Amino acid sequence: MNASVDPTVFASPAGDGNLQFPAGVVRLRPEKWRNLVAGHPWVFQSAVASVEGTPRDGEVVDVVSDNGTFIGRGVINSRSRLRVRIYSQVPDRPLDAAFWQERIDRAIRWRETLGLVQPARAVRLVYSESDGLSGLIVDRYDDQLVVQVNALAVARRLDLLLDLLQERLAPSAIYVRTPAETAKAEGLQPMDYVARGRRRAQAVRIYEGQVAFLVDVGAGQKTGYYIDQRDNRQRVARYLANRHVLDLFCYTGGFGLHALVHGQAASVVGVDGSEAALDLAAQNAELNNVQPAVQWVHDDAFRFLDGELEAGRRYGAIVLDPPKFARNRSQIREALRAYHYLNRVALRLLEPDGILVTCSCSGNITRSDFLDMLFGVAQRSARRLDIVEQLGHGPDHPVSMACPETEYLKCVVCRVE
Ligand code: SAH
Repeated sequence: MNASVDPTVFASPAGDGNLQFPAGVVRLRPEKWRNLVAGHPWVFQSAVASVEGTPRDGEVVDVVSDNGTFIGRGVINSRSRLRVRIYSQVPDRPLDAAFWQERIDRAIRWRETLGLVQPARAVRLVYSESDGLSGLIVDRYDDQLVVQVNALAVARRLDLLLDLLQERLAPSAIYVRTPAETAKAEGLQPMDYVARGRRRAQAVRIYEGQVAFLVDVGAGQKTGYYIDQRDNRQRVARYLANRHVLDLFCYTGGFGLHALVHGQAASVVGVDGSEAALDLAAQNAELNNVQPAVQWVHDDAFRFLDGELEAGRRYGAIVLDPPKFARNRSQIREALRAYHYLNRVALRLLEPDGILVTCSCSGNITRSDFLDMLFGVAQRSARRLDIVEQLGHGPDHPVSMACPETEYLKCVVCRVE
């Protein structure tokens, strides 16, 4: 493929527009080029001074500074607060098939180099901004792919991207999903279908170390599973030997099953608000032959904690892995209060010399905010609390220094006197 490809080749089915060469120029307000020059791919609406030409949503534009210096080439979307996503800082290079192929190939090669692309394993193959592919997530479960479309730019090039993935990996199926939240933010029709191959009747089986998990690729939360905690689940297990473990927000049993299989924990109580998740958790316990040691509880986590306090129960270890509490910046304070409450109650339920594993997947809450919260909890609980390990996401979720928003997961392991 070369730069002389007919520029209409990848036009959308409606036939409108040019998806490779710039159809307009977006001029920035003064000073707004700084982060972008450093590689941040997001041009917010508030940073735009003017748009020259009449680019339509999904088309390519060049972004220039207030004095006309080329900053980057990206894709415009007038329906999003995130007006342009920049994909290239190289002038004059079309965003053609060869361009996307290179990006995808680099992302996949990184995971292959790490030995993460294996049969019966789960891996994130493409992590959006961190792989220069803003708005695209590709997760692999065994030989099936789930593509999460988080940008109009990606939706408009979806067929091409799916072809590239099919060619590179020959998966047995590719599912396409759009979270409702991003569909709204990007002005997209939410998508949820099998784009290549056939939907399998059964859940996919993957392994993390020795632990087997069933993943409901088409219907589970996110892309079906929480791959970002994969290495942490395994790592944390070693602290849990012989303990009675409470796995709060357990989803399909991740931390709890690792605790039993890799950590020789004594027992696990897993709590989640999703019945579908607990159904799989029960099947997973059976697959791993640990049913006698587990109990799954369908309940609201906060209500469950209150009940345990009242009943005077205690645990030797507690894992807290709640959903994203801060969906945007305005929710940060409220989210920190919720984390504080949760961790405080957990400490009250923890036996002396207990283990607390506390997580946050809110990108808007920084690691230092989270540690401050924990510090406050320790002070008020009058319990000595030592951090023994601080974890983030695995190497298939790299953090882009240019785009700090790509860091979101905090997982802190503490011993509590
Ligand atoms: N620890 C899990 C991932 C947890 S994701 C793993 O390793 O796979 C967060 C989970 O919290 C989801 O399963 C979701 O169903 C659950 N959840 C969200 N709000 C809840 C609530 N109020 N009470 C109980 N569970 C809740």
